[in-house]
Order: sequence, then C-alpha cells, then structure tokens
Amino acid sequence: MKFRLYNTLSRTKEDFVPYNPPFVGLYVCGPTVYGDPHLGHARPAVTYDLLFRLLKALDYKVRYVRNITDVGHLEHDSDDGEDKLAKKARLEQLEPMEVAQYYTNRYRDAMKRLGVLPPSIEPQASGHIIEQIELVKQILNAGYAYESNGSVYFDVDKYNRDHNYGKLSGRSTDEMLSATRDLDGQSDKRKSYDFALWKKAAPEHIMRWPSPWSDGFPGWHLECSAMSRKYLGDRFDIHGGGMDLIFPHHECEIAQSTASMGHEAVRYWMHNNMITIDGRKMGKSLGNFITLEELFSGDNELLDKAYSPMTIRFFILQAHYRSTLDFSSEALSAAEKGLERLMNAMAALDKITPSDKSTVDVSKLKDECMESLCDDLNSPVAIATLFEWVKVVNQLHDGSQTLTADDLESLKSQFRFVVTDLLGLVPEMEKNEEELIGGLIAMILDVRKQAKEEKNWAVSDKIRDELARMGVTVKDRKDGTDWEIK
Ligand code: ZN
Repeated sequence: MKFRLYNTLSRTKEDFVPYNPPFVGLYVCGPTVYGDPHLGHARPAVTYDLLFRLLKALDYKVRYVRNITDVGHLEHDSDDGEDKLAKKARLEQLEPMEVAQYYTNRYRDAMKRLGVLPPSIEPQASGHIIEQIELVKQILNAGYAYESNGSVYFDVDKYNRDHNYGKLSGRSTDEMLSATRDLDGQSDKRKSYDFALWKKAAPEHIMRWPSPWSDGFPGWHLECSAMSRKYLGDRFDIHGGGMDLIFPHHECEIAQSTASMGHEAVRYWMHNNMITIDGRKMGKSLGNFITLEELFSGDNELLDKAYSPMTIRFFILQAHYRSTLDFSSEALSAAEKGLERLMNAMAALDKITPSDKSTVDVSKLKDECMESLCDDLNSPVAIATLFEWVKVVNQLHDGSQTLTADDLESLKSQFRFVVTDLLGLVPEMEKNEEELIGGLIAMILDVRKQAKEEKNWAVSDKIRDELARMGVTVKDRKDGTDWEIK
C-alpha cells in the first residue's frame, strides 16, 4: 500500500519515498518544558503518533526523534527577553534543570495517558550544546553568519542572495521586515530578520555555556537542526510540527541546514493545524487556556465536566490534521458518545457466536481503514469506515448477519488492529469501576491507619508493601494519606 502525504514545501500531495527504505527518519519538534502540558501539545503529539503507528504498520523501521526544548527559547511575549525557563528557576530558586525535569515528567505522563507512544529518541537541547556550537562554526565558516558583541547572527540577506529564504512559509524578506518588532539584542543585528545562532548571556542569565564567542546559550532554531542531523543524518525523510512553527522556526532550520551542508536536510515537511477554543485561538492572555490536567479532571470553568484522555484522542483523530479543530463542550460530548459506541462494539465482538455460514464479507476492513490513513493521514474517513463496521458488528450481535468461526476471528483481529494498534484507542475503565477501586483503596488505607494508631507496624507495613506490589504507591502526609496507581 502506498502512503501519500501533503508536503508543506511543495504544497502538493506526494508519494512517500524514503531515502533508505525500510528505514524512515522522522523528526518532530517537541515541547518547551517550562509550563504544564496543555491542549496545544495534544494535537501534534497525537497526529505524529498516528503517523508513527501507520509507518510501522506499513513495515517501515521508523526512528522517531522528538526533542525536549529546555534551553534558549526566547519568547516574543516575554517582557525582558529573558529565557522563560531560567526566569522561572531564578524566581523560585530552583536549578533550571529541576524545572525542566518536572515539566518533562508532566508532559510524558500526559502523553502516556493520551496513548501517545514514546519516541525512539527524546534528546534534550541542553545535552547537545557541543553539536550546536559546531553547527554555528560551520555556518560562520560558510560565510552565512556574523559575530556581533559576543553573539552570532544568521545573515539572512547573504543567504537569500544564494538561496531562497522564505521558501517554506512563502514570505518575502520585505514582508518579514515590516512584521518584525524590536527584541532583546536587536541593536547587535544588521537586519531585524537576522536570527540568533548564539546569544551572549546577560550577567543575571543563569543558563549559560562557554563558547568561542561568549558565555551564552544557543538560539532556539539551532537545536532541531543539530539534533536531527546527529540522530537522523544529513538527509532524512519527514519533519513534522505545528503550523505555528513554519515561520520562523522551520524556515530557519532549512536555512541553517542549507548554509552548513550546501543542501537541505528534510524531504517532506508536515504541519498540523491549530486547536481553537469556541472559535478563538488559545492563549493565556485570552483567558481560554486549558491544561491537559484540567481537561482530564474537569477543573476549568470552560469545561462542563471532565473528559477522559481517550475522548481527547478520539476528538483529535476525528478531524483531519490539516483542518482547524475547535474545542467546545458540545463537540467533546459528541466525541465521548462516538468513542463509547466504538468501545461497545469492541466489547460486543466477544459475545458473537459463530455460525456455519458467513453472510457478510469481512476481508476488507483493515485495508479500507489503512487506505484512508495512507491518503495523507485521513483519520476522519478511516473512522467513518470503522463506524460502518460498527453497524455490522451490531447486526452480528443481534443475529441479523452471521459469520463462520474463521471469519469472526478475522473480523476481531482486524477491528482490534485498527482501533488499538493504528488509532491507539484503548478501552478505559468505567466510571463505576474507578469508583469501586477508589473506595476499596480508601477502606484498606483506613484499616492501615487504625493499625498504625494501635502501633501494629507489622499490619500497616504489610498493607503498604502489598499495595506497592500491585502498583499503588502510598504517601503519608501530616494530615492524611495520598495514593496513586502507577
Ligand atoms: Zn524544532
């Protein structure tokens, strides 16, 4: 089966032809870890997880690299241009890596709950400073960068005379000039659209590394060029990310690769569209910011209730990744109902009794769904096909259609393959089961508390150890006990 994908660079759908089949190099821009994972993180993660799963189902050997940005990301809305991670660490008197680790753990946790498979390699920018300095040297040697007061900037004008800066985003340098605004260190640059490869650190800046130019830190765009090259080579297949990264981030990556190697690194650029909330862009300043934790718990005034991670995943998959996706309580409730129908069908499969003849041809289920996904990850069509099969499952269940034992086994395995392996949707615990487990644990902990009061340490330790063995960690606080299922 052929996989076709829309390449942002050529602006057309193309047949996917890897450089070195069956190996596929896939690089996706990962999270910046100075805040809680939010809705905006969920869409690219689920989109490229689907791609990862599909490529593997097509028998490719995929090396999926998704980075962790833990340094040097200058935010435009930052009041003083200071690195947000460093600022948070300074204000809270924490080691910057402590902050980064905390949010990295939170991100990985949320991704696991969303059914997102871990990538093959998850490199951190802070662990690749040497590679980034090397890349700056190469770009300087090639004549496409200049040093200014200890910082190094990419010379966009020089590059644009030899190559085409703006080819991915379709922007001209004139447009860029009128769109750029004053940022920290602007005066060191020749042109406002020149971007930093290396920044000299201000005295109060705590994240800094020595370099030939100054004690400082790398520019944000550099890490993805350096790390994709280290792990995927000079030329690799697919680079993905959110649409908001096309300019400047990915445009800068293309320029850095071309300036340092004389050719581009990426064959196919893929970009997922954004999530809006009730028709508006999500943003802290707009007051419609929802973290994943809040979605899963329902603890946000924009939500009428909690939505399970699988509902969020299903909701994202119901839209094509290049369309906008609008979040609202109504849309989420509809997704919740749809997912329930799908999961009921999965459960009903086990209750069907085979017959001596088949009245329906089940051989095509998997192929039909795969074909839709092979058409530029058309998950909404794949899901619509799946729902045609939900009808068939229900007819088999009520006896209006029949299958032989072999055909029934085939239907079960294809259905499960599409739902679980490809779409990554797994049955979640029912609310009442969850409540029952919660109630039982609370009761056991109450017995333990009583044992402790009676200084019966043998019993209280036994309860704690047995729970730990079952994956329930118990933490005693001054005013009670917390527990968590790992
Ligand atoms: Zn990136």
